[in-house]
Amino acid sequence: MAAAELTSRGYHVTLVDKGRTAGGRLATRHVGQGRADSGAQFFTVREPAFVAIAQRWLKNGWVHVWSHGWSDGSLGGAPPAGNPRYASRDGMSTLAQHLGAELEDAGAVLVTQQRITALRLVGGEWLARTAGNEEYHATKMLLTAPVPQSMALLDASAIQLARSQRRALVRIEYAPCLCAMLLLDSDTALPHPGAIQRPDEPISWIADNRAKGISAEATVVTMHASPTWSSAHFDDNETTLLDFFSAELGKWMRPPAHIVAGQMKRWRYALPTQLHAERFLQATGVPSLYFAGDAFGAPRIEGAALSGLAAAQAMTLDVP
Ligand SMILES: Cc1cc2nc3c(=O)[nH]c(=O)nc-3n(C[C@H](O)[C@H](O)[C@H](O)COP(=O)(O)OP(=O)(O)OC[C@H]3O[C@@H](n4cnc5c(N)ncnc54)[C@H](O)[C@@H]3O)c2cc1C
Repeated sequence: MAAAELTSRGYHVTLVDKGRTAGGRLATRHVGQGRADSGAQFFTVREPAFVAIAQRWLKNGWVHVWSHGWSDGSLGGAPPAGNPRYASRDGMSTLAQHLGAELEDAGAVLVTQQRITALRLVGGEWLARTAGNEEYHATKMLLTAPVPQSMALLDASAIQLARSQRRALVRIEYAPCLCAMLLLDSDTALPHPGAIQRPDEPISWIADNRAKGISAEATVVTMHASPTWSSAHFDDNETTLLDFFSAELGKWMRPPAHIVAGQMKRWRYALPTQLHAERFLQATGVPSLYFAGDAFGAPRIEGAALSGLAAAQAMTLDVP
């Protein structure tokens, strides 16, 4: 979002991401012949600034309304009617891919599979070096990784922030999330539209990606453990975790369905629990260094998007 905003304002933007695609927590995986969203499952739209953005994505056919709420699995009936929950029909990572393609069409450079390992100031400009020894120069730098990762990068680079700003950034915290993706040889018994949400249970989210529309070839179920359960079991071995998730899914399978394969994804920084009050943070004492993402101002996809936009707008006003 930040890169698109800066590009539209005439800046030369390079977006560097360590992932295979630049989706981050908008992540979709192959499991057997099927696919599963492992990170964000859907998004909601609360603020007017995000309404226009979501409408454009809707108009482009990039997202659709998946549901207006989720059953907790106890009623067996229709989910409660609430605000629309939007999802990307080909998987949430596809939304990021659409945004990335649009960004490249607008002239920005999108670099993937390059992890930035060091930042340096050279003659008042930023130089970012990657694990693959690539170097990128920039007059302005925006870091949107989960904040502990950005702080680790600054520390490894011996870049000092003002003490109050460092304190503000270190205060930001995230809850982890353990995610299981299980491949079934038959449909699930999950209620329409294929998902249940139970924030107070160890497994807080169960979704059928075939019912969601992103896995036509096979039934793959995404299961998320709650923040408390995920913290307590984050380092458990994969077999133990898959056994636990599989037993829980058994309640939502119709005999003689079987689980034929499973994968775990461990999200260390899934959802911010301690946010920075402002939409972004501009470092003082160093030239044009900014922090943004879902821990700034408001959480989730909506918060991340609006944070990126706010940071980009501030960057255009910041004349070095
Ligand atoms: C399990 C789970 C469930 C969720 N469910 C929902 C949901 O249903 N609805 C919702 O709205 N939100 C949900 N979220 C939250 C949502 O995914 C995030 O709020 C949002 O995607 C954050 O976007 P971001 O750009 O701030 O950060 P990220 O998506 O984390 O992007 C940060 C990027 O930085 C890159 N990066 C990090 N370090 C480096 C480095 N050194 N060099 C290069 N690149 C680097 C990463 O590869 C990543 O692509 C969920 C998240 C998880 C994990």
